[in-house]
Amino acid sequence: MNAEAKPPQPPARAPDVAEVATAMRGFVSDFGPTAALALESCVHCGRCAEACQFYVQTGEAKYTPIHKIEPFKQAYEREVSPFAFAYRWFGLAPKVTGPELQSWQEMVYDSCNMCGRCSLICPMGIDIADLVEQARHGMFEAGLAPADYLGALAEKEHLTGSPFGLTITKFQDMLHAIGIEHGVVMHVDEARADIVPTVSSIDLKTYPASMAAIAKILNHMGASWTFRTDGFDADNVSLTAGDRQGQRTTTMGIVNAAIACGATTLLMPECGHSFTEMRWEAANEMGHALPFSVLQITEFLAEAITDGRIRVNKAQQKATYHDACQVSRRGGATAAPRVILKALGVDLHELEDAGDANWCCGGGGGVALINRAAPLRAKAFEIKQRQVEATGMETVFTSCSGCRQTLEHGGKATQWSTTVASLLELVADNLAS
Ligand code: SF4
Ligand code: SF4
Repeated sequence: MNAEAKPPQPPARAPDVAEVATAMRGFVSDFGPTAALALESCVHCGRCAEACQFYVQTGEAKYTPIHKIEPFKQAYEREVSPFAFAYRWFGLAPKVTGPELQSWQEMVYDSCNMCGRCSLICPMGIDIADLVEQARHGMFEAGLAPADYLGALAEKEHLTGSPFGLTITKFQDMLHAIGIEHGVVMHVDEARADIVPTVSSIDLKTYPASMAAIAKILNHMGASWTFRTDGFDADNVSLTAGDRQGQRTTTMGIVNAAIACGATTLLMPECGHSFTEMRWEAANEMGHALPFSVLQITEFLAEAITDGRIRVNKAQQKATYHDACQVSRRGGATAAPRVILKALGVDLHELEDAGDANWCCGGGGGVALINRAAPLRAKAFEIKQRQVEATGMETVFTSCSGCRQTLEHGGKATQWSTTVASLLELVADNLAS
């Protein structure tokens, strides 16, 4: 998931009429009563624009949230609205063309990290981030997801269950090697276990110590737990690419793996989108409530620290904390990391807009996986950089490896001396005996 890595490059191609028709069907099929109501209730107050980092940092009107759902709106007015016939008859909503759809890639993918900040601020309760996600479905169905890293990774995830095509054997080898390197016992494919931790592709590729940290903590607690090789990579790149089928396949692979060993808790890693997918969408995919609880790792740690299952030493340091949008604002785990930091005795210097109003790192929603979006990503990162510097802290903790990587890349490009660190690993390094 390293946006600076040399990406696979599928051949570029222009959309044709059939693709446009498919895209239109995709858009229109996503229109439920809620979406239609949302579009009709916009009062054009402009508040969402001021909430969006891409508009705030560039000043370009095309990056306002409401503009990003233009494909959606056109499809609605022309194909579904009560006045669709009139729109078509008088040409009020022009037919969407192939080149137009292709240009909308920038609006729907490159300049939206699905952070939901606009959704939070909208006085009419319009969830633009969700509308963008639905617009991506139509784009993906038309073959118009960005073909470079994001699209290619989603395709591989769909085929193999892992965006990097990590096979079960390779995952087993990796866990074995991590266990030896960190001196920690790895539980793998146990027939029965209470807790099933999952991992993110970014951890697998860049931060393998996080898997050792999970194992160390669960062993320390004496928990019944196991990694499952039949469902381990929770990243769900398909979700951000707009591939609904791939999204479902990835999710159900993990759900079925947890069910197979009778898990009561599914632990989501330091990863944003994997958490919201499992917390809010998995039950819909399954058709009924999940037979286990879904906890983001910070929620699990905060609960375990609070009820005494984990005891920690004081870390003796001061730092700031970056909230991942999907963990806090969209996921609801805003208090948990602060409970952990407090227990560790970290002198926390909060960022301006910390918590639910936090700004995205700049790379969420798959933006980190679109190479041509690098300049936009860098602009978005500037907000975070300014806010961290204003705290005077030299360390910023986070609970999302995607954010961690984006902040590290942004810092590297600007010779930033700030250290970006994992909250999970901080806990593992400070377990009390
Ligand atoms: S904040 Fe809501 S009502 Fe205001 S312009 Fe944006 S979408 Fe429309
Ligand atoms: S979800 Fe975030 S990035 Fe996307 S339009 Fe809204 S504020 Fe902007």
